[in-house]
Amino acid sequence: MSGPSQPIFRFAPSPNGYLHIGHAFSALFTHHWADALGGVMLLRIEDIDTARCRPEFVDALLEDLAWLGLSWPEPVRRQSEHFDDYARAAKTLREQGLLYPCFCSRAEIRAAAGESTDPEGAPLYPGTCRGLGPTGRAERLASGAPVQWRLDMERAIAAAGPLLIRETQPDPSAPLTVRPADPARWGDVVIVRKDTPASYHLSVVVDDALQGITHVTRGMDLHASTDIHVLLQALLGLPSPVYCHHELVLDEAREKLAKSKGSESLRALRAAGWTAVRVRKELGF
Ligand code: GLU
Repeated sequence: MSGPSQPIFRFAPSPNGYLHIGHAFSALFTHHWADALGGVMLLRIEDIDTARCRPEFVDALLEDLAWLGLSWPEPVRRQSEHFDDYARAAKTLREQGLLYPCFCSRAEIRAAAGESTDPEGAPLYPGTCRGLGPTGRAERLASGAPVQWRLDMERAIAAAGPLLIRETQPDPSAPLTVRPADPARWGDVVIVRKDTPASYHLSVVVDDALQGITHVTRGMDLHASTDIHVLLQALLGLPSPVYCHHELVLDEAREKLAKSKGSESLRALRAAGWTAVRVRKELGF
C-alpha cells in the first residue's frame, strides 16, 4: 500500500519492439531509486500507437523485466484501455480554445517547415491550419478529411503563465533544482493524432497525474519534451512531478540504441548466455 508521502516512480515502455539494454538501464535506474527513496515503481504500458504496438511485445517485456529481477504492483496500466481519459483531457483544452484541427499531410508539413526543426529534429510546423477560419474548419471537418488536433502554442503559453520544471540531476537523490520551461521551441505540437485519439504528450501527463507519479525518471532523449509536459500540466490543472533524466546507453558507434535499428535485445543477450546478474553488473546495478 502506498502512503500519502511515498514516492511513486514509473517505468513506461512502448511495446513496439523488444526491450534492449537501454530500456534495462532505465528500468533498473527507476527501480533502484524508487527502492532507495522508500517508494514504489509502477509499470505502465504506453501502447496508444495500436498499429505499431503488439501484444507479443507486451508479454515479452513483462518477461524480460521479471528476468532482470524487477517487480511492480498490479494491475499494470495499459494506455490503449484508457482512450476516454485522454479524450476528456483533449476536450478540456479544446474548451479553452487552445486546440485547432490540422489537415496537413506529412509532405505538406515538410515543405512548409523548410529548414526549421523542433528540438527532436522533426520539421517545425509553421501553423498553416491555425489560420483556417471557422467556416473553413467546419467544411474540412464535415468532409471527413483525416484530422489531427494541435495546440495553439502562443495562446497556450499565455494561458499557462510562467512554467517551471523541478528536477534532480544526476539522480533522484540530488538536490532539487528549478528551471524555466521553454515550450515555444516545439511550435504547435500535436495533441490528438490522426491515427489514434491521443498523443504521447497528452497521455503521458494524464497518466502521470492519474497514477500519482511523484518522480519521472527517463532518458535524456525526453529531456526537451518536459517543456511540453509542464505546459500541459498547467493547462489541465495537474500536479507536476519531479523530473530526472538519465544519460543514455550508447552503442559501439556511440549512437543511441533503438528498437528500430535492431539494437541487441535483452532476449538476444539472454539467448547468447548472458545472465541477469551480468546485465545488472554491466549497467552498474
Ligand atoms: N513510452 C516512452 C518510451 O518508451 C517513455 C515515456 C516516458 O518515460 O515519459 O520511450
